[in-house]
Parts: sequence; structure tokens; C-alpha cells
Amino acid sequence: MRRQIVAGNWKMNLRFSEAEELLNEIAEGVEEITSKNVELIVCPPFTYLEMAMDFAGEGAFSIGTQNVNEKDFGAYTGEISAPMLKSMEIEYCIVGHSERRKYYGETDETVFRKVEALQKSDLTPIVCIGETLEEREANNHFQVIKKQLENYLFTLQPLDFSGIIFAYEPVWAIGTGKTATPNQAQEIHAYIRGLIQEKFGKEIARKQVILYGGSCNATNAKELFAQADIDGGLIGGASLNAPDFIKIANSFAK
Ligand code: PEP
Repeated sequence: MRRQIVAGNWKMNLRFSEAEELLNEIAEGVEEITSKNVELIVCPPFTYLEMAMDFAGEGAFSIGTQNVNEKDFGAYTGEISAPMLKSMEIEYCIVGHSERRKYYGETDETVFRKVEALQKSDLTPIVCIGETLEEREANNHFQVIKKQLENYLFTLQPLDFSGIIFAYEPVWAIGTGKTATPNQAQEIHAYIRGLIQEKFGKEIARKQVILYGGSCNATNAKELFAQADIDGGLIGGASLNAPDFIKIANSFAK
């Protein structure tokens, strides 16, 4: 059985006291997660990481960040590096979110450099890929996904590649309330797994964790997670509500 993961991307939300309240609610809610196989990851803004680590305690849930710089240290004002995160025992980092690609010019190459930097420091990258609405309407979504994988990430050594958690996030579904149907999501997840199998073989493809992201919530998670190639979700808006976030984590078929 593959790992089942639900990761919350808080983006640039919440004041300190609100973050504290949400972390407290999540820490309490974790006990309601019925499956032992589900891993919960919370990705708050950098400013709340230390507090989040305190609430995460002895592994009730894990902590990730929403970005990282590809350099280790140096004169890069305002940036945060993988060795810095590692020194705080942070485990995960979201890379290549569509908002970073759109507003901060991140390319497939930047994503690749960040993956390398994270893995060098023994952190796990959660790499986002997905097509825009225009790309889907032009029926280019398969090509776009293929390019996002093949351009750089497929040059990684098999062991490094297998350490990536992928999140298929159709850009048109992020924060829009317009979720991909379970069939649409499954079709792309199976396609991604197929590409991985062609490149790295059956064993790696079978184990690679591929999450779905894009308006996934407490109502639609169950049907999405029931799909053969969907191993959980990267959750934006709904991760800011603890009961919904926990309900999503309880949406896997046993
Ligand atoms: C995201 O930001 O990764 C995301 C999936 O957002 P939302 O769930 O709000 O669509």
C-alpha cells in the first residue's frame, strides 16, 4: 500500500494568534484520524514554523514550508534555505506551486534546483505540477504535465526521484471552488504514474506518492481519494478550518 498523505498549504494567511488557535485545533483533532496509515502535514508561513513544530510535538503531524531558496547560505536578503529548515527539523517543503510559478517567475529549472537543494539537506519536496485553464481548453494538458516532469526532474537519479511527493494541481481548480472531477484527476494521475514507469520502472512508479490539489474539501475528498492513483491531497482553503482538514484526512477508504 502506498503512503496516504494530506498536506495543508496555509499560504499567506492568518495572524499569530489565529495560527496558534488553528494549530491547537489540529493537534487536538489528530486523535480523531482513524487510519494509522495517513500522514498529516501542515505547511504554515515561515513566521509560525517554530510554534508549529511545538504543536506537532512527537510526530502527531509533520511540518513543511511553502518555499525554499536553492542556495545554502549567503547574501540573499529575505530568503530561507534548506539547511536552515533542516536545523529546525522541518521535514517537507512545497515546491513549484502555481502561485510561485505565476507571481514569482519560478520555472521548471528553478523547481529542479530547489528539489536538489532540499534533498541535499534531507528534506522531502512536495512538487506541484498542473496545467492552466487555457492549456486544458486547448487539449494540451497531457503535454504540459509531460514537459514539467521530463524537462528537469527526469534527470534525477532514480533514488532521488522516488523521494519526491508529487501534487497534481490543475491551476484552474486552485482556490476557485472548481474541483477536477474524480475521473479527470484520476486520468492525469494515471498518466503521471505511467510516465514515471516508462522512465524509472514499475517498482518506483508503484510507490510514488501523487496527491491531488485544487478545491479539494471535506465534501469531495472521499470520491477523489477513492481513485486508484490518488494518494491524498494538497489542501489550500479547507486546511484553514481544523474540523474540515481532519475530515479530509478521514476521507480514505479503509
Ligand atoms: C493549493 O494552494 O495548493 C490548493 C490546492 O488550494 P485550494 O485547496 O484552496 O484550491
